[in-house]
Amino acid sequence: MKNPLAILITIVACSISIPILISIVSYDGIEATASVKEQTIEEIKPTLESRDKVKEIINYETINKKSPTISVYNHNIGKNQQLDMEEYLCGVLAGEMSAEFNLEALKAQAVAARTFVMYKEGKGKQSKHKNAIVCTDFRHCQEYKSYDELKKKNGEEWMKNSYSKIQQAVQETKGHIIVYNDEPILTLYFSTSSGKTENSEEVFSAAYPYLKSVDSPYDKDYSPKYVSTLKITNQDFVKAFNSAYSDIQLSENDLNSQIEILDRSDGGSVEIIKIGNKKIKGTDVRQILSLNSANFDIEFKEDYLDIVIKGYGHGVGMSQWGAEGMAEEGYQYYEILSHYYTGTKIKDLY
Ligand SMILES: [Zn+2]
Repeated sequence: MKNPLAILITIVACSISIPILISIVSYDGIEATASVKEQTIEEIKPTLESRDKVKEIINYETINKKSPTISVYNHNIGKNQQLDMEEYLCGVLAGEMSAEFNLEALKAQAVAARTFVMYKEGKGKQSKHKNAIVCTDFRHCQEYKSYDELKKKNGEEWMKNSYSKIQQAVQETKGHIIVYNDEPILTLYFSTSSGKTENSEEVFSAAYPYLKSVDSPYDKDYSPKYVSTLKITNQDFVKAFNSAYSDIQLSENDLNSQIEILDRSDGGSVEIIKIGNKKIKGTDVRQILSLNSANFDIEFKEDYLDIVIKGYGHGVGMSQWGAEGMAEEGYQYYEILSHYYTGTKIKDLY
């Protein structure tokens, strides 16, 4: 090392890095992590009102009866199957959430999926399902993959390491459902929020007292789907709306003056947008342009638009990535559920 500059840089680097290294080594690693976590929880506490105590763990396991058998319409083979509820839930969980997620997030999802079935059962036989309670089509009910399908798709190793974690999440919440006024609730859930969830009546037609807009502060930091951008040419934009509405008056020139967001929901999604001579629902724009959510802003460029979208999914109920964030920050599954489903409780059915 003959270069004097290189020697100088080395000396400076050592004099900075050695004290840092010493302080890291002398600090108790476990305690350091815990105190950082504690601090984060304190910081977000005001936004998550459902949380009273940081470390309290509630045991909801009060009954130990055999799990029920339910009829499930398998849309892939067009047949009804009689499945043990808890085994069915493992197949739902494997389809609806990554096994990479924190165990508490998986447990929250397991309880939400179990509650969905009980809610559907309370609504009576479903003609769309050949009278089964639920089907295996995620567009209508919940995704479901059988043990054999999962093994074939993911291999032995995955079954050993990941499927066992899914089974654990289901077993540790056996029989638990979410109730409002002692009735199972409609547990809607979705991938990623924009920072707030939506009121159900602003996205779907029906209002539910437990599907209310709440803060979801962790999606931003945890979800890889928090922000997405659709770049679309003025020409393609006009073409898309021309084919959706035959009587729309919209021209490629000066789109900026023809488009205006008129109203947003409590959760921030576009409720009504003026496009040309029409007032269109944000959810319809989402469908026409295949946007990740209805929470978007439009940036007008020379001959194209940047549509910047926040979140992924309909935004009502539990955000899965929000749940993952809460779990990573130390929240238990029942705290996650009572946060996203306003005014609800956990009930042990069996
Ligand atoms: Zn269905």
